[in-house]
Amino acid sequence: MRYTNLFGKTVREPLKDMTQVSHKLLYQAGFIRESTAGRYYLLPLGQRVFDKIVRIVEEEMDKSGAQKMSAPILHPIELWEETNRDKSGGYELMTVQDRRGARFALGGTAEEMFVDVVRRFQLTYKDMPFNVYQMGYKFRDELRARGGLMRVREFIMKDAYSFHTDDQDFKKEYENMRDTYSRIFTRVGLKFDIVPADNGYFGGEYCHEFDVESEVGESKYFVSEDGSYIAHEDVAEFKLEDVNPEEEIKDMEIVEQPEWVRTMEDNIKNYNLPAERFLKNVVYKNRVDGHIYIVTIRGDLQVNKNKLEKLLNLVGLLDDATDEDIISIGSKPGWVHSWGYGDHKVTFVADNSLKTVKNFVGGQKEEKTDSINVNYGRDFKHEIEGDVALAQSGFTSPDGKSKLIEKKGIEVGNIFQLGQHYSKKMRDAVFVDSDGKSKEFFMGCYGIGLGRTMATIVEVSHDDKGIIWPDAVAPYQVHLLGLNLEDSEIRNKAEQAYKYLTEKGVEVLYDDREGINPGSKFADSDLIGIPWRVVVSKRTGDGVEIKKRGEEKSEIIELAEFQV
Ligand code: ATP
Ligand code: MG
Repeated sequence: MRYTNLFGKTVREPLKDMTQVSHKLLYQAGFIRESTAGRYYLLPLGQRVFDKIVRIVEEEMDKSGAQKMSAPILHPIELWEETNRDKSGGYELMTVQDRRGARFALGGTAEEMFVDVVRRFQLTYKDMPFNVYQMGYKFRDELRARGGLMRVREFIMKDAYSFHTDDQDFKKEYENMRDTYSRIFTRVGLKFDIVPADNGYFGGEYCHEFDVESEVGESKYFVSEDGSYIAHEDVAEFKLEDVNPEEEIKDMEIVEQPEWVRTMEDNIKNYNLPAERFLKNVVYKNRVDGHIYIVTIRGDLQVNKNKLEKLLNLVGLLDDATDEDIISIGSKPGWVHSWGYGDHKVTFVADNSLKTVKNFVGGQKEEKTDSINVNYGRDFKHEIEGDVALAQSGFTSPDGKSKLIEKKGIEVGNIFQLGQHYSKKMRDAVFVDSDGKSKEFFMGCYGIGLGRTMATIVEVSHDDKGIIWPDAVAPYQVHLLGLNLEDSEIRNKAEQAYKYLTEKGVEVLYDDREGINPGSKFADSDLIGIPWRVVVSKRTGDGVEIKKRGEEKSEIIELAEFQV
């Protein structure tokens, strides 16, 4: 490809609102342009990278035994109603209507569609298992689109769905997909962690995220220093040590307390005790029925809403309570009690940390008084108990042998166990088993964000001059630069080199511009990030100067010796 013919050229400066490196570089180097917020054009250079990623994903998926197919983009809304995800899918779901009044979801994921096509066949155990996938458009009305291709509202996902007679058979495919994903991400040049995570609104029991460690990642997860433990923050566990096991249990008292004591910091100052010695109450509301939940937790810990929703079986349904919500149960914002409110229907939840402290301060705070020497189990006990606390760096790992370290990562893909979640919700999602009985099938689903993967590669593979594409996904293998092409002798040599390389089947982007100074050509080449730079200039005589992107060393060799 001649640069003069290429559609989509480099620009020197990023736009003001661009904060992430991958966003800036993909824009400046001429790979992407935004249409409206969160919707992007892939320019020809971007499309080439994208297609190479797609090819790798397809090769590995096909090798795994999965079969490619395609589903319509518009999903009949009735399918989403069958699983209730037209509601629980929440704000991200987009819908459209046709001229006949039929309503459709613009799917953000396609479990219902794939169950629907599978149930049209009278499957028996002999037809199972199988795994079908597509490269399908996804629409998600994300609250905030950000970071270029990182979080968009419209994107192509590789989404796969597998169907099994039982859980044991499913587990084999889950391992198969885990290995397949590992090969895919390795081939596109990414280092990744496989992180057990929360399965959110997909249903099912467990899942793993493939996370690429990065400061701009939105997934937070924890690894133990000894490397034996890894988990997403929404499921990360830790071992709670007893805070004051030696202390004697004292009688509970209501004591006077200066009026300025309001926050946790005030408490610490006033009582000269660490945060872990205080009770903290956090209030949530069920978005659908308005029910209030008060969570009591040790003062040094935060509540993890995902863990709480899971414990209460209210995935995706809890909001932080507002001041009005708190007043509605007869309480005051900032003065919520750890027990009481008998006249109002409130559900209390206790974090396990309450069992690690003797003689808490707090629980019945009023303007000028509070309770001290409060002991969980003796002075109050909640109907629901469990681990709803957020893990933190430095906490003891669950086996007690190591410490947790926090990491941030970009989630490029994930694999989900779905069990019979969808087949139980959707009618006729069955097969005939070897005993002649009709049974609901077991499922898994497996997603890879292709655009996000592309952006992630840039995020972890660049320098201050531009992108450094790994060979496997680079838009071209060679960036041929002709310097001072106004000189007809150099022009001839450069043209010959271009002809020679392309005829050998090498993918070449040829900077054939005249009247552009060498410095600008080098800068563009570094920005675009093609693995090999091959220069033809006065200095290179009958040879060419070759240099690998990201390395300093260059050498002049005969073109015939050059190997990509
Ligand atoms: P996130 O937590 O980042 O919102 P998710 O859990 O919603 O991701 P999935 O529904 O599991 O993601 O989708 C599978 C893959 O699709 C993700 O691993 C990611 O690579 C990609 N993906 C999801 N949402 C987006 C988005 N808004 N923009 C780009 N890629 C996305
Ligand atoms: Mg999401």
